[in-house]
Amino acid sequence: MQCDFVVALPKKINNFATYKSDVIMNEEKNSLNFIEQIIEDDLANGLAQDKLRFRFPPEPNGYLHIGHAASICLNFGLGLRYNAPVNLRFDDTNPAKEEQEYVDSIKHDVQWLGFTWDKELYSSDYFQQLYDWAVEIIKNGKAYVDDQSSEEMALQKGTPTEPGTDSKNRNRSVEENLALFLKMKNGDFEEGSHVLRAKIDMKHVNMHMRDPIMYRILKRHHHRTGNDWCIYPMYDWTHGESDYLEQISHSICTLEFKSHRDLYDWYIDQVYDPAKLRPKQREFARRNLSYTVMSKRKLLQLVEEGIVTGWDDPRMPTISGLRRRGYTPESIRTFSETAGISKRDNVTDVALLEYCIKDDLNKTAPRVMAVLDPVKVVITNYPKGNEEWLTAENNQEDESAGFREVPFSREIYIEKEDFREEANKKFFRLKLGNEVRLKNAYIIKAESVVKDENGEITEIHCTYDTESLSGSGTEASQRKVKGTLHWVSIKHAVKAEVRVYDRLFTEEAPDSNKEKDFKDFLNPDSLTVLEAFVEPSLKEANVLDRFQFQRLGYFCVDKDTTEFHLVFNRTVPLRDSWAKMEE
Ligand code: ATP
Ligand code: MG
Repeated sequence: MQCDFVVALPKKINNFATYKSDVIMNEEKNSLNFIEQIIEDDLANGLAQDKLRFRFPPEPNGYLHIGHAASICLNFGLGLRYNAPVNLRFDDTNPAKEEQEYVDSIKHDVQWLGFTWDKELYSSDYFQQLYDWAVEIIKNGKAYVDDQSSEEMALQKGTPTEPGTDSKNRNRSVEENLALFLKMKNGDFEEGSHVLRAKIDMKHVNMHMRDPIMYRILKRHHHRTGNDWCIYPMYDWTHGESDYLEQISHSICTLEFKSHRDLYDWYIDQVYDPAKLRPKQREFARRNLSYTVMSKRKLLQLVEEGIVTGWDDPRMPTISGLRRRGYTPESIRTFSETAGISKRDNVTDVALLEYCIKDDLNKTAPRVMAVLDPVKVVITNYPKGNEEWLTAENNQEDESAGFREVPFSREIYIEKEDFREEANKKFFRLKLGNEVRLKNAYIIKAESVVKDENGEITEIHCTYDTESLSGSGTEASQRKVKGTLHWVSIKHAVKAEVRVYDRLFTEEAPDSNKEKDFKDFLNPDSLTVLEAFVEPSLKEANVLDRFQFQRLGYFCVDKDTTEFHLVFNRTVPLRDSWAKMEE
């Protein structure tokens, strides 16, 4: 795909707030997107508001991704704005690729995003109606059966600058066409031997109008109609007629279908009753996201080749992957709204999606302490065998989140990178001879280190200020020291597996390079598995619960968690390491 532009966002995360408010301000100035503007114009020109009806039409040949979320939020958003019904229509005309598993996952994902459809419908419900209409069209002399090879037909198609040439079968009699079409339907012909074509114009400037195929023979089992049919209608023939049958007022699709609009209209013309509403196809640009691919064919490749663990691998741009990673439905809706819809192809910066989840979780995620890369600290003046349960605020952004108790004892873990034997003045973490505050606890001072035979630090020996407990009201508790560290009590800590994810691809647009395969740009470091220690309150956590590991980022309980083995996915770090690298 050719990208016209990349939504250029400032690299520093702080600036996203400004970026977002700019977008929102622009929206307030002109609060309608161009699709809403089209609808407003139609309403002004006499379309009754109660005639408005929309649909989201996924093909059940894969799991939904963040691009589909744009279409879902757009269509269901219109439904909410105009109080109009929105159908969920499965576009299931290709039995070779479609499965019930995909239908189920799509329904789950749309509901999880927070939307409710009016009717659940299937294009396959219209197979008989479509067949009957096709017979009518043959009778009207506007369709014919062609038994040429696909190569011959392709040669006759012409090019965008040269007209096509007519098939030798174009002028078969109506009777002959009816008999052949019946034979196609009855399974008398081999796959690929015959097709039904609309008889439009082989010289039409729009190549889609050069006698397009309406039906092909496929001797396949269909996930809903079983073996009832061995001819299946093509997308264009099915889509417009399904919209018409459902009386969809605005059929919104992505830009690549713009050139299909003539054909969409031609097919509706063949069956149109002026007493009924005539659906309108309108197009918007696909949502592309940087550092990933979105086509279901490519995502399926990643799944089938074992490059990811499944459609819901937390590195996938699928709704199920994002959910498992810890994304909330609200964050995905905010992302879709903020990125907006466009008339031109573009790539949205994944940093905007990350901004949206951080913003949401900042308000809602309970804070906890976890140490991902531990080093032991011994507080030498803390009484052996003693322990205290200290009060910690769950979320300073949300008073109603309350408090919890965190155990403190003589031996704790802190992050290795939070300690240096020596460091310059800008290092506000722990260094020999200096003090830091332990979050929710005491001020400690590093006195000495113990090392193993390789020179690796195995223990940091500290002393603590016995009067400095946070919140205790003493003078020492108010004492300001430069750094505050997170920690866990070794005796009480719970071991956990933490899966840290990075971008799946190293390139912004991995599938836009014509010379290389998108898989050449896979990031070999997209997954790092750590053995971490977390505070004991997390023993009670349930799958999909989301937390802020203080100073580290947002994390979510993975479905691989068992009673004895906690697994967390890192949703997003607090700071963006890529932005730092690119600075
Ligand atoms: P893919 O190329 O990923 O297989 P598709 O367009 O074939 O996508 P469908 O299941 O046919 O997938 O799409 C259902 C609806 O979602 C369609 O209306 C389609 O236009 C829309 N859609 C699909 N991908 C995107 C995207 N990246 N951005 C916006 N809308 C999309
Ligand atoms: Mg499709």
